Amino acid sequence: MKTTRIYILFLSFACAFTGTAQTKKKIDYFDLHAVRLLDSPFKHAQDLDKVYLLELNADRLLAPFLREAGLPQKAESYTNWENTGLDGHIGGHYLSALSLMYASTDDKEIGERLNYMLSELKRCQEANGNGYIGGVPDGKKIWEEIANGNIRAAGFSLNDKWVPLYNIHKTYAGLRDAYLYAGRQDAKEMLIKMSDWAIRLVENLSDTQMQDMLRSEHGGLNEVFADVAAITGDKKYLKLAHLFSHQFVLEPLLSHEDKLTGMHANTQIPKVLGFKRIADIEGNESWSDASRFFWETVVEHRSVCIGGNSVREHFHPTNDFSGMVKEIEGPETCNTYNMLRLSKMLYQTSLDKKYMDYYERALYNHILSTQNPETGGLVYFTQMRPGHYRVYSQPQTSMWCCVGSGIENHAKYGEMIYAHGVDELYVNLFIPSTLYWEDKKVEVTQNNSFPDQASTELSFNTERPTKFTLKIRYPSWVEANNVEVFINGKGIRINQTDDGYISIDRKWVMGDKVVIQMPMHIVVEQLPDQTNYYSILYGPLVLAAKTEKDDLAGLFADDSRGGHIAHGKKIPLRDMPIIVSDPDKISSCIQPVTGKPLTFTLSNLYSHKYPNEMELIPFFRLHESRYIIYWPQATTEDVAKLQERIMIEEKENERLDKITLDKITCGEQQPESDHFIQSDKSRTGFDEGVHWRDAQGWFGYQLKNVNNDAKYVFLKYLDLQEPSAFDILLNDSIIASVTLDGTGGEETFSQVIEIPSSLSDSDKLSIKIQAKDDRKTAKIVEIRLLSKK
Ligand SMILES: [Zn+2]
Repeated sequence: MKTTRIYILFLSFACAFTGTAQTKKKIDYFDLHAVRLLDSPFKHAQDLDKVYLLELNADRLLAPFLREAGLPQKAESYTNWENTGLDGHIGGHYLSALSLMYASTDDKEIGERLNYMLSELKRCQEANGNGYIGGVPDGKKIWEEIANGNIRAAGFSLNDKWVPLYNIHKTYAGLRDAYLYAGRQDAKEMLIKMSDWAIRLVENLSDTQMQDMLRSEHGGLNEVFADVAAITGDKKYLKLAHLFSHQFVLEPLLSHEDKLTGMHANTQIPKVLGFKRIADIEGNESWSDASRFFWETVVEHRSVCIGGNSVREHFHPTNDFSGMVKEIEGPETCNTYNMLRLSKMLYQTSLDKKYMDYYERALYNHILSTQNPETGGLVYFTQMRPGHYRVYSQPQTSMWCCVGSGIENHAKYGEMIYAHGVDELYVNLFIPSTLYWEDKKVEVTQNNSFPDQASTELSFNTERPTKFTLKIRYPSWVEANNVEVFINGKGIRINQTDDGYISIDRKWVMGDKVVIQMPMHIVVEQLPDQTNYYSILYGPLVLAAKTEKDDLAGLFADDSRGGHIAHGKKIPLRDMPIIVSDPDKISSCIQPVTGKPLTFTLSNLYSHKYPNEMELIPFFRLHESRYIIYWPQATTEDVAKLQERIMIEEKENERLDKITLDKITCGEQQPESDHFIQSDKSRTGFDEGVHWRDAQGWFGYQLKNVNNDAKYVFLKYLDLQEPSAFDILLNDSIIASVTLDGTGGEETFSQVIEIPSSLSDSDKLSIKIQAKDDRKTAKIVEIRLLSKK
């Protein structure tokens, strides 16, 4: 039996404000110290994360803080985001991650690393002399400007620096976590001093100036100041938390309006964490309700099957998820990290099981999947685009936000497995672990090979017979009345309460064993905008197929700006396999593979490039490969139409080739140089399997008018979603002016222009595409000279 562990934590929050009407908590969480992981994919992830944490060089992370405090640096700063403006942000996350890892493992080396970080940051705070700790380049100057009301805010900048408030939020959160999770008293004192600095920073600013400043991304500063208020019991920090609450985001949420479309997703989620934290401290029902509304909006209307949200980091319209399957910047890990933190807060005050159902879904399919199980590298964007891939960070090169939140993610898997009331023990997740419940002097061991086997076993080790109610979450992915429970080998009648839990009220004795069988089945889930894209789940697990492994450019990221984006070639979506089935019959196309747990065959696929049958495995086990999570679906009739369209296109291409005198594939090097490309302010690209060129200035080529037969110019455009205006000149005469309003489709589109008879005798024709009216040219894919229409 374990000895008493340290209890400092969130429990102390409740006591700090005796005078305010706090929101009543329905349960308490166990301290991370009380839970230890046993062998499982999560334990493996935690172990790898520990290695990653120790590989990071503390002195390099500390360098920006020392520099800004005027102290000699002991090492060079890291590169990437750490020396291009966001200097110090990883250092803050590092404090949090070390604290969580220490609480989860009691690892001595991790504890020492944390102590070292704190002692060095303390030196910085002392040298700064005003309570401030930060790596923001030339921070002293901008903080002084801000204190004097000289505020120049934009989404991703403040006084010409890269989100300094977001940056220092990481330091605040790190100090808070070092105190709350690892019990470091020094961290508490540093945190309070730094919060006092923030009070002085904004004391002369009007509300209007504050709100203006909050347009700049600022993480969850309101949350952390509310935490300081709870830790100290001092209301001045609660006032500060209010000052840092962004009304522009809060107000629509209070009236249940979803105004999120177009907003940068991870700028908003942490603000809502703050609203909820303040609400809980003050017992403010309407702010709490606003946070719940936000969660429902994001989870129920803006998330994909893995539990992630956003495209290119922004919320897109709820009725248009097309960007999700087209773009290569899918759900960002930070967003889900924060959505899980919000779920944790909302569950605690509601005991609503839906928060745990989401938590489990996102934990397996997004969070766990964002760590490479061999290298420990962390993922920024998890693409939903079929046939694309993810890139992984490396400890010495990649200094992105999602590495910061990522090193925290894999250090706290113990936080939500269990929860408790006075006489209730909640089992919410089926992650192998031991729990020591101090209040009851009970040790619980959860053993299983979940999810490979859909069952778990709980055994109880008690000093004396102890009465409490065991509450087992009835997972949303099990069909009704399908769970079986055995106590000491004997099946029991299940008493499923309205709250979605199976309740077992009993006097527990040493050696009691509870086995829970939770059969999984296949479920098909449509993209939330109801378009014909489907994902496949088995129990809580999203299944995916591996496609090819070629051209995974930048798979292990270097320190280049943009190294977090999987910029290798995009496989054209039209080449992706299609499930040929009525939507409600898709699950009948999926069969288990015998002898391989969690492995399935998906058949009825139509594709000219891929097999008609593919293997599905849990997405969290799929790495270093291109993959498919969302499958386009079509009925047999649709496929026949599609085939007919392809045939018509092929015939049209054949006909076109016959009447073509000369042809240029724009944006492709050889054909362009063969045709003497000239250009000004022009660029090329490769999308949807085709090369293109456009220009803000112009570009041109020389075409061969074979036998002086040319009668027409043929142009093919791609992606007409951006407005464009341009002239087409032949031998310096304008033969057409084109204006496109940007409402065209995404596919290609062609245009044929007659050549004036005055030009048809020249055996060389020079074509020039020239932008006009301050617009760009369209993206041009192909130019041909035709002998007839
Ligand atoms: Zn991120």
